[in-house]
Amino acid sequence: MQAPLEPLAFTPILRRLVWGGRRLGTLLGKPIGDGDDYAESWELADYHDQVSVVRGGSHAGVSLRDLVRHRPADLFGKARADQEQFPLLVKLLDARENLSVQVHPDDVLGRELANDRGKTEAWVVLDAEPGSAIYAGLKPGVDRETLRRGIDSGQVESLLHRIDPKPGDCLLIEAGTVHALGGGVLVAEIQQMSDATFRVFDWNRVGADGKPRELHVEKAMRCIDFDRGPVDPVVPTPLVLENGDVREPLVSCAYFELERWTLSAATEIGRDDRFTILMTLEGEALVRAPRGDLPLRRGETILLPASIGPTVVIPVGRAAVLACQQP
Ligand SMILES: [Zn+2]
Repeated sequence: MQAPLEPLAFTPILRRLVWGGRRLGTLLGKPIGDGDDYAESWELADYHDQVSVVRGGSHAGVSLRDLVRHRPADLFGKARADQEQFPLLVKLLDARENLSVQVHPDDVLGRELANDRGKTEAWVVLDAEPGSAIYAGLKPGVDRETLRRGIDSGQVESLLHRIDPKPGDCLLIEAGTVHALGGGVLVAEIQQMSDATFRVFDWNRVGADGKPRELHVEKAMRCIDFDRGPVDPVVPTPLVLENGDVREPLVSCAYFELERWTLSAATEIGRDDRFTILMTLEGEALVRAPRGDLPLRRGETILLPASIGPTVVIPVGRAAVLACQQP
C-alpha cells in the first residue's frame, strides 16, 4: 500500500549565473556557499535534468517527477490526473545586475521555435534596492519598427515601461511581453514549466570572453505582442475575513492562480481537487503535517498535494503567504 501524501518540502536547486548575488542566502536562508553569483533557487521544478526532490517526511528522496508518474491523482486531483509533467516552475531570483531584455513565446510559438512550452510568468517582489527597476512591456506607441531601430542602435531602455518595484508588488508577465528584471530586485517567480526565452537586448554588455552574448532578435520579434503595451503591478481587491486575515487574489490566468494570505491566526488553505503551492513572502508560518508541523520560513516553498485537501497554516506572529493553484 502506498503511504498517503503529506505536505511536501523540496531541496532547493541553486543556479549560479553572472547576474546573481547573495540575497538568496542572506535574506532567504538558502544554502549558498562563497561567491556572489547565486542567481536562482529552483524551488519546484520538473524540467529536463533539474528535478526537485522531497526533503524529509515519509517521501524523502522521492522526486517530483516520480510523484507525477506514480501518484498523479493524489498530486493533481482526479480531474487533472492526466498531466505528464508538473505544470509550474517556482523560482526565486536574485538580480544583482540587470537581466537581459527578453520575451517568452506562447504555447504555439514555444513549440515551433524552442520545442518547449510557452512561458507566462508572474513575479512577486521580495526586496528592491533603492533605484532598482523592473521593465515590463513596451511604452505606448512603440511598434515593431521603433523597437527594431532601438535594437539596431543599442538604445532600447527608453522604449520600455519602467516601474520602481516595492516589496509585495506582483506583476503578470504574459507570453509575448518584453521585460527585464533590473539589478537590485529579488523576486519569487511562478511560471509555466518552460525555459523558452529569446533575448532582445543585453544592455550593450560583453561576456567574460569579451564578446556580446547571443541575441535572438528574429525569434523574439515573432513572439512580441506589440498590442500589449505597459504592464503595471496588479492592484488587488483585498477580502478581509472575520478573523482579520486578509485574502488578496493577485493573478488569474490560464496557467495559474495566485492569492496572497496575510494571516494572524491558524487558517486552512488548499483544496481537495487540485494542488496548492505555498510560499512565505513575509514573516514565518508553520504547515500542519502528520509528523509534526513543517516550517515555512520566508522564501520557503511547500507543496500541498490535492489528496490532503485544505491544510492548516499557522502564522508565527503575522505572516504573508502566497498560495498558487491551477485554475
Ligand atoms: Zn521572463
